[in-house]
Amino acid sequence: HAKRSGGNTFEVFADKMAIQYEHELHLRNKLQKAIEQREFEVYYQPYVSARGQRIIGAEALVRWPQPDGSFISPAEFIPIAEQTGQIVPLSKLIMRAAIADLAKWQVGKNFTLSINLSVKQFQRENIIGTVSELAQEYQVPLQQLQFELTESVMVEDAQKVFRELAELRTIGCRVAIDDFGTGFSSLSYLSRLPIDTLKIDREFSQSIFTDPASPTICKAITDMAHGLNKMVIVEGIETPEQADFFMRQGCMGLQGFLFYKPMPFDEFDKTLAAETTQHE
Ligand code: C2E
Ligand code: MG
Ligand code: MG
Ligand code: MG
Repeated sequence: HAKRSGGNTFEVFADKMAIQYEHELHLRNKLQKAIEQREFEVYYQPYVSARGQRIIGAEALVRWPQPDGSFISPAEFIPIAEQTGQIVPLSKLIMRAAIADLAKWQVGKNFTLSINLSVKQFQRENIIGTVSELAQEYQVPLQQLQFELTESVMVEDAQKVFRELAELRTIGCRVAIDDFGTGFSSLSYLSRLPIDTLKIDREFSQSIFTDPASPTICKAITDMAHGLNKMVIVEGIETPEQADFFMRQGCMGLQGFLFYKPMPFDEFDKTLAAETTQHE
């Protein structure tokens, strides 16, 4: 009996693996066509200054629209694109679209456009070259670009990544560590990282009133960042109480549904125009 049920468990497991594998294979092929056909859109989520709560920048977030009007989440296809290397051509499309859009908005010179980068891009692509060429082509100041990387970037080829990050800063761009606190990077690492900004992951910001450890962790991260002369942007802010907590911590920027959701180009354009009028 035991043997038989064990066999069944294995079969169920094997079936699940097969289904998962097929799903990924399907997505991978679909992704390839979508890259060739340029089926992607870029949405923008504005972030605001903690003090005045005015827009100081926006993060570019890729969207993959489907014929039925739905979207496949980047959380689902970005990891696959990273595995296959498709992230390199995909990121080029996103970067081009985002920089072209930036050139069209009426924004001040202190406005920052944040673009997410993956570790694969450092291994397979000349990022500095791509960034400088696109900025040149669209006449966008390099000072308006910020690149977000997760801590996982630090794991492989750290020296090469460090050099390229430093170079991105040398040409005028800013560098941010994304989802900070969820990865494995050591604190001594942080002090040597050539970065300007630290983004606190929403796992922490959203649990400050529910997880007793969370406010302590957030305070420690913020104090450390400020002590090392880094700016802090907090993501996933959904309530005024959360915003208030991080404002009191002296964080520079706040991002989250409380302020704005990610939106397409036109809507962001209108949002910027409305904000300008409101403050005139
Ligand atoms: P991320 O870079 O940490 O981006 C923030 C994610 O949090 C976005 O999800 C955003 O929509 C979501 N978010 C922002 N504010 C709130 C909030 O108040 N509440 C909640 N519940 N969520 C909030 P999204 O757009 O689904 O992207 C997921 C992840 O996919 C991103 O996390 C990033 O790691 C990756 N990603 C998205 N676009 C790109 C891209 O163009 N290139 C690369 N390499 N990765 C990307
Ligand atoms: Mg990000
Ligand atoms: Mg993030
Ligand atoms: Mg995140």
